[in-house]
Amino acid sequence: MKQQICILGSTGSIGTQALDVIEQHSDLYEVYALTANNRVEELARQARKFNPAAVVIANEAHYATLCKLLTDRPDIKVYAGKEALKQIVEAEPINMVLAAMVGFAGLEPTIAAIKARKKICLANKETLVVAGELICKLAQEHHASILPVDSEHSAIFQSLVGEDDNEIDKILLTCSGGPFRLFDRDRLQTVTAADALRHPTWDMGAKITIDSASLMNKGFEVMEAKWLFGVPADKIQVLIHPQSIVHSAVQFADGAVKAQLGVPDMRLPIQYAFSFPKRLPLKGDRLDLFTAHCLEFFEPDTEKFRCLALAYEAINRGGNMPCILNAANEVANEAFRHNKCSFLGMADIIDRTMQRATFDASPDLEVYLQTDAEARRIATEFVAEKAAAKG
Ligand code: NAD
Ligand code: MG
Repeated sequence: MKQQICILGSTGSIGTQALDVIEQHSDLYEVYALTANNRVEELARQARKFNPAAVVIANEAHYATLCKLLTDRPDIKVYAGKEALKQIVEAEPINMVLAAMVGFAGLEPTIAAIKARKKICLANKETLVVAGELICKLAQEHHASILPVDSEHSAIFQSLVGEDDNEIDKILLTCSGGPFRLFDRDRLQTVTAADALRHPTWDMGAKITIDSASLMNKGFEVMEAKWLFGVPADKIQVLIHPQSIVHSAVQFADGAVKAQLGVPDMRLPIQYAFSFPKRLPLKGDRLDLFTAHCLEFFEPDTEKFRCLALAYEAINRGGNMPCILNAANEVANEAFRHNKCSFLGMADIIDRTMQRATFDASPDLEVYLQTDAEARRIATEFVAEKAAAKG
């Protein structure tokens, strides 16, 4: 029996690479449902190629267009809206849900998939950033396994295979450092979104590429590792590793360090999440340590990259503070991409939102939804203030 997969966010960077993996292993995997937010033509094209039972377009404004594009395919059901995303993951034939939407929007459909006891292949790190405690609790309650797709977490997960009885002494979380690693604060004042979107080693969606340049992404990944592997943040060390070859590592009580190395290619962690515990062949480049020849590691500079410091602050405060951080970051990230705030301005907006938004030490889903809305409102005001000051 082929595994039936639902891809939340199939038109994105992770979604399209997942479809490539599925195509390479069409004897094992079949697409049951595909979803996207706005890219309706791409979604229809994917549907024609992979013949899912259903497609969902989150933005309802595109529903009529999608229906029209698939009129000659009555075998593919077409749905629209946020509720439909939550419902589709529950479909009985689905075995695995690849959560590859971007941002807070991924939280509720992922929760629905967990409650439906699906295996979760998790790329949408914001889900764990915002509500890690709740997600882990629900996964345990509903016996849903969560397999990491993020490359660092996949590397950690791969390093932990066979180590069930051995405690983790320390996680070594690597980070490329982004395109501005060697810039001083003066140069950072004037960098543009176009500069930030030129990531040195990974080709990813726009939001995560900006988060990688500001190092917010690494702060998020510390939280993600904390929840996935049950390790406190002070045992997770961030190492700047510009070559992106050591994808992360685990140190054990005897001092042994196990790591996963490879060329930067997200298809490997995606495929491993699908096939675990098996390894399947994967076409693509192979690591050649003779040409790599130099592997460097540096401490991150949290004074220059304040977003990482703010992420640590949110971890320390706990409660809904990571949710506030995430919402403010989504607003600031988008503002930077649209030239409404500067690169360094993003950290200001996030910092001020963290100070102003209502803190809750023990949030539930309802609180997370309210917090997200409140923090977005506050951060949007700060963006408008900055834009007015500029004009
Ligand atoms: P992307 O922007 O390329 O794609 C996002 C996908 O989600 C698209 O299909 C889009 O249609 C859909 N989407 C966006 N907003 C939505 C909404 N409000 N409702 C419904 N659907 C929505 O992003 P990406 O780079 O593929 O990243 C996806 C997730 O995976 C992110 O959480 C990111 O942090 C994580 N991730 C990505 C990479 C990578 O290499 N791209 C690596 C590690 C983790
Ligand atoms: Mg990563």
